[in-house]
Order: sequence, then C-alpha cells, then structure tokens
Amino acid sequence: MLGSTGSIGTQTLEIVRAEPDRYRISALGVASSVDAVLEQAVEFRPEVVAVAHRSCAEQLRGRLPAGTDLWVGADALAAAATCAETVVNAVVGFAGLPVTLATLQAGRRLALANKESLIAAGPVVQRAWATPGAELIPVDSEHCAIHQCLRADGVSGKVGPSDRVAEIVLTASGGPFRGRTRRELSDVTVQDALAHPTWSMGPKITIDSSTLMNKGLEVIEAHELFGIDLDRITVVIHPQSIVHSMVSYSDGATLAQLSLPDMRLCIGYALAFPDRTVRPYGAIDWSEPSLLEFHPPDHDAFRCLGLAYEAGRAAETAPAWLSAANEVAVDAFLAGALRWVDIAEVVEAVMQQWPGDLATDSEAVLDIDRRARVVARDLVDKRAG
Ligand code: NDP
Ligand code: MG
Repeated sequence: MLGSTGSIGTQTLEIVRAEPDRYRISALGVASSVDAVLEQAVEFRPEVVAVAHRSCAEQLRGRLPAGTDLWVGADALAAAATCAETVVNAVVGFAGLPVTLATLQAGRRLALANKESLIAAGPVVQRAWATPGAELIPVDSEHCAIHQCLRADGVSGKVGPSDRVAEIVLTASGGPFRGRTRRELSDVTVQDALAHPTWSMGPKITIDSSTLMNKGLEVIEAHELFGIDLDRITVVIHPQSIVHSMVSYSDGATLAQLSLPDMRLCIGYALAFPDRTVRPYGAIDWSEPSLLEFHPPDHDAFRCLGLAYEAGRAAETAPAWLSAANEVAVDAFLAGALRWVDIAEVVEAVMQQWPGDLATDSEAVLDIDRRARVVARDLVDKRAG
C-alpha cells in the first residue's frame, strides 16, 4: 500500500481491516507522514515501511515493530512495489510514476489510483504493462465503472473493433462551481474550491475536480486504459455522482455502474477482481426515491477540460507537459499564490510552449516533466509579481 496515509491509502487499509483472512499488508509507503505510518505499521505489521523523504525517515529509526524494515529515499517506494502480489499505487502526482513502472515491470497486479503516472507516461507505461503477468486494474471510480461495463459485455483488456463499443461516457459531478459562469468564478477561494459536493478526497484531486482538469485527465486515462480514441470519449455532468460512468454499444444500449460515492467499492474491486468484496460499499437503497440528472459540460467556464483533450490528441509527451503544468498551478493556488481562474491560464500558456518531444522512455518523460515545471513556475511567478 504505497501512499498509505492519504485518502485512498487509509480507505484501502479499512478494506484490509475488514477482510483480514483475505489480505495482508506487506509494505507501506509514504512521503513524510512518519507518525501516521508508524501507527499503521504497528497495526498491520508489514515487512517494509518505505519513506521517500530522507530527512523525515530518521525519526522512524528504532521505532518500527520487530520484523519491519525501513527503506528510505526517492527509490524506496518503487523498490517496495516488488514486495507484494498486488500494489495499490495511491501516491499523489507524477511522483507515483516509479511505483507504476516497478509494479508492472515485476509482473504484478497494479491497482492504480495514481492516474498522473499513466497520463504523463502513457507510452512508457504501456510497454511495462506488456510484461508477462502484469495486470492493471483502475481504482479511479469512473474507470472502475467502465471496467465493469465492458466486462459485462465480455470485453477484457483493450477495446477492439469487434467489441461494438460506440462510446465511453465519463460522468463528472461538476465540482463545487457547477453552474457558475466564467465571470462568477473570478474570485473563488481555496476554501470554496476544496468544498467538493459529493466526494471527500486529497487536496490536489479536489482542486482538479473544481477546474474539471480531473475529468480531462480522466479522458486521457480512459484512452490509455481501454485503447479507445478520444473522439469516442464523452464527458457529461451528473451532479448526484451515482452513475460512475457508462459504455454505449453499437446497438444503442448504454450500460452504467451505479452506487453511492464510495472509493472503497473501487479499491475493493481492484483488490478482489475477478471476485468481489464480501461486504458492500456504497450500496443504494432502491426503496428510497431518487433523481438522476445529466448535463453537457460548460467548456467556457471550465477550460481545463478542453486543454486536456488537446493534450491527449497531441499525444506523446503533451499529456506529461500538461499534467506537470497543472501540478505546479494547483500547488500555487493552494499556497495562495495564484487565482483559481489563472490555473487554466497558466496551463494553456505552458501548453503553447510544448516542445513536441516523443515519449521514448521514462527519461524523456522525466525530462519533459522537469522542463514543464520550470516554464510553469516562471509563469506563476510573473503573475504573482
Ligand atoms: P492524498 O494527498 O490524500 O495522499 C497522498 C499519499 O501519497 C500520501 O500517503 C502521501 O504521503 C503520499 N505521497 C505524496 N507525495 C509523495 C512522494 N513524493 N513520494 C511518495 N509518496 C508520496 O491523495 P489521494 O489519496 O486523494 O490521491 C492519491 C491518488 O489517487 C492521486 O493520484 C489521485 O488523483 C488518485 N485518486 C484519488 C481519489 C480519492 O478519492 N482520493 C479518487 C480517484 C483517484 P504523506 O502523507 O507522507 O505526504
Ligand atoms: Mg475519478
């Protein structure tokens, strides 16, 4: 369980706690939350605790339970990825890439929450995924839903021409600013943007949900996971977050997966596949009245969605360039150094400077990520100054 102290990490540990005969934690990995990971280690007794930030790790020395080793440094989480049959990658941001690659290259199952690694390094991850034994099951709720809708029609793996899939429909709650015009969004605060109406998540993805960048990244994620071109991926706003995504088939049928918003269902699905968890998460009480709405997204107020489609179409290192620019802009917004409306402005301006590099290998992706951050920081500083 890498990224064990975050929103997905702690929910994964709840599932493990609920089915102790089925799951055992062999490694925990964090950036710097030493007290929280120590508490988890005492409860779950893993063989390894991996801490990415060296300076924080020293506080753990000598405090871990007997039988638990401490691995430290930037590569520690990726090394820990080879300790288990299944790796839940719930690290946030581009930092999750080494874990994604190490898991797949070791021929293990990757339960992937860290969408940024797949988006930024699509072609590189695809090659690692081809390793014998490697499996990638999405944890992201929309992609978990699509996985289930495809599976219901016998589609496993990439969608092929004979599968009769017409379209993938990704649902989005619309976030806290749904229905607002571009003008009405000029002075929203960090607190406003963090108040997600239906999901409780970590800060980065919550801001991405408020800008619809999260949905844009998920469009690219769906393309990478299911091999379907971007023109056949549609986004609809569905404020209730009950329908988690849909697949339309050539005969006019649309299949959907419905449940209350609860990431434990998706995490449990990725852990148990092809089986299912025994206890329910997010089950709907169908005896209660309910209403489901669907609306087209407002591309003018939420420009990040269109920017992500453009980056996805440009392919190669364009999604990495976009995602890195977005991480910098979101960090700056959370730190109070950038206005919410300027997140899209910064990302768009950075995209105009994409140098067009090919995603030949992970070095090329790391390089493009680093360069995009420099360009984005420069633009953020100019706006702040
Ligand atoms: P959080 O911010 O809540 O948690 C992030 C976790 O990653 C923490 O354990 C953190 O450790 C660790 N971490 C952060 N930076 C590093 C690093 N450089 N090296 C190693 N570990 C690091 O994030 P979420 O749980 O919300 O999201 C995790 C991923 O899942 C993201 O990619 C997100 O997009 C995706 N996701 C999340 C959903 C949700 O409901 N939360 C839904 C769908 C996808 P520490 O505590 O030490 O900082
Ligand atoms: Mg999602």
